[in-house]
Amino acid sequence: MSKPSMILDMDLRALRRLKWKDVWSEREFLSPEEIRHIFQTCDALWLHNGDPRVPHAELTSGKCSNGFVDVLRVLRYTNLCQILADQLVHRLHEQGGGIVDWVIGSDHAGATLSYTVAAHLNAQHDFTEKGPDKTQVWKRFQIKPGEIVLQVEELVTTTGTLKAVRQGIRLAHPHPVRFAPFSLCLVHRTPIYEFEGSSIVPLIHFDIQTWEPEQCPLCAQGSARVRPKQNWTQLTGR
Ligand SMILES: [Zn+2]
Repeated sequence: MSKPSMILDMDLRALRRLKWKDVWSEREFLSPEEIRHIFQTCDALWLHNGDPRVPHAELTSGKCSNGFVDVLRVLRYTNLCQILADQLVHRLHEQGGGIVDWVIGSDHAGATLSYTVAAHLNAQHDFTEKGPDKTQVWKRFQIKPGEIVLQVEELVTTTGTLKAVRQGIRLAHPHPVRFAPFSLCLVHRTPIYEFEGSSIVPLIHFDIQTWEPEQCPLCAQGSARVRPKQNWTQLTGR
């Protein structure tokens, strides 16, 4: 077995051989540098280098950004998804949480991560599905009164999806739904750490800036705006 302590030296091939039980038995939490290394090795993290000749990111919200995290590029590797989910569960335990009846994520990348967290907590799982106008729809199960729901997202930029999921669940129930006082997120890239009374517990924070196009310094310098997922090769040069 490769020593988890050597994560910073691992290429993708070595990372894919890591097992979550080995990582946890060897030590406690991965360091921010190690998590960042995992994201970079999986080609999931792009940061603008400051050169205005290089394009920058146009987000779904219409805002501009000097970086982008495509979390699904990491989560597609099931062992890495398990390792990161396990780390999130330990963060939850550290905060005194962990007894939940449901773990709920969102369509699309939030579904695999929330499923894996649910498996670690032995909880029930499903995810909301995309509806019109950025809504999230809950339609396959009824959550019983009193059951505790933990929300899990792979990426929190504006808390918009967390709110949309909660709203979708509420709309599908005639009774109030009980949410855990925590929500878990894998990648946190916002100054916000709380929403609707739940603390957002992140595994890693990336300091990536976001601006309205009128206030964007990169637009002002003539850098082009591109949609990151569709132009990943152009942005990353890989
Ligand atoms: Zn811009």
